Amino acid sequence: MTSFHVLISGGGIGGLCLAQGLRKAGISCAVYESAPGIVNAGYRLHMNVLGGEALRQCLPENLYELYLQTSRRTPKREMSVMLDTQAREIWTRPHIGPPNDGERPHTAVNRRTLRQILATGLDDVLHFGRTAVGYEAGPDGARPLFDDGSSAGGDVVVGADGIHSPIRSQLLPDVHVIDTGMRGMWSIAPLTEDLADVMPDALFDGFAIVTRGDGTIFAIGVYDPRRPISEAVADLAPGAGIDHVEPYVMVTYGSDLGADPTPDMPDFAHDSPEELHAAIRRAMRGAHPGLVELVDRIDESTIAPSAIRYLEVADAWRPSRVTLLGDAIHAMPPSFGAGANSALRDAAALVRALDDAAQGRRPLLEAIGGYEERMRAEVFPIMRASADPDAVHSDHVPDLAG
Ligand SMILES: Cc1cc2nc3c(=O)[nH]c(=O)nc-3n(C[C@H](O)[C@H](O)[C@H](O)COP(=O)(O)OP(=O)(O)OC[C@H]3O[C@@H](n4cnc5c(N)ncnc54)[C@H](O)[C@@H]3O)c2cc1C
Repeated sequence: MTSFHVLISGGGIGGLCLAQGLRKAGISCAVYESAPGIVNAGYRLHMNVLGGEALRQCLPENLYELYLQTSRRTPKREMSVMLDTQAREIWTRPHIGPPNDGERPHTAVNRRTLRQILATGLDDVLHFGRTAVGYEAGPDGARPLFDDGSSAGGDVVVGADGIHSPIRSQLLPDVHVIDTGMRGMWSIAPLTEDLADVMPDALFDGFAIVTRGDGTIFAIGVYDPRRPISEAVADLAPGAGIDHVEPYVMVTYGSDLGADPTPDMPDFAHDSPEELHAAIRRAMRGAHPGLVELVDRIDESTIAPSAIRYLEVADAWRPSRVTLLGDAIHAMPPSFGAGANSALRDAAALVRALDDAAQGRRPLLEAIGGYEERMRAEVFPIMRASADPDAVHSDHVPDLAG
């Protein structure tokens, strides 16, 4: 076996999953994350088979089981549902991806919990507060360069550092970030029994989108873990730094993909949480009483603004000792809840490619090139479909054939 050292810029979902997978395969790595720790960034993440199976491959058994137990309970119907404000169904659509059944299908996770699970056991290789600004690469090695003037040497650099990746900007300078103009807010409301009693049943399906018919939408997703998080952690990963999280309902509100801006939208980036809460209440006025109650119960301390951007689809490039995964190469609008799942899929695929090279089954650059080619074939169609303005408007069936 050839020994490699892999340097990963970015300790998000994709970068951490890659580190877990490499460790399992016996390949040395280090992760450099610009944030000072695992910060809060969003709430609930829809999971599908691509992401779930990547976790199964990369995580040790106890952490994979922890992911399954801390995933939301299996809903009666695992699908996307579009409702009007009176909670009448307009359409339903299965989630994209391979069939997702079995006793414990992949459902949804709390984003921070998943990242904390992914970071478990990586203390010795995960370096917080290290911001990459570029890289150097040659025929024999590659190194990320950091903003403090330092660098780290190894065999392969992986840009897993999100949509504004400096690694991608250097490798593929012609790929630009596109701003959809979609602006909105995230928030959560505690899922208490009395709230659950008044909420329309459809909100307990996989994911619900409530349209006001004026170019603004609410996206609503329940997170109620299969087992209380602290109990599952105590049993499966005692001592791991994984916070307890009570059940909640994630509520996002904002403009729809491709819609013209409506005049009464709040200024999501500058208004206070109180002003944004008042705006979302106004937007729900006259709606089904369960929806009105839900937005009333939003915890103002959880309100945060969101802006939806994505990447241009890259043309094929020549493989080298520098590669990319996740949002760093295919950031997409969240139309199908596929971005994080695709980042996880990439991580598992890159582990297999690097393992092939380490085991001498393929030369390194051929293995990296094969990984990149399959990513373009399998993920770029999802990326194109997610940016299609029809994606969330109707019973539109995405073309995922490429
Ligand atoms: C509103 C919304 C809802 C979504 N819902 C879903 C969903 O339900 N399901 C789903 O699959 N996807 C969803 N997504 C997409 C998903 O969030 C992303 O695709 C996913 O987070 C990508 O993971 P990543 O690891 O590639 O990148 P990121 O999560 O962006 O992680 C990149 C990491 O790199 C770090 N970093 C950045 N720059 C540097 C640097 N220069 N040096 C070092 N570190 C750096 C960052 O701090 C971060 O930790 C949603 C996205 C949005 C906006």
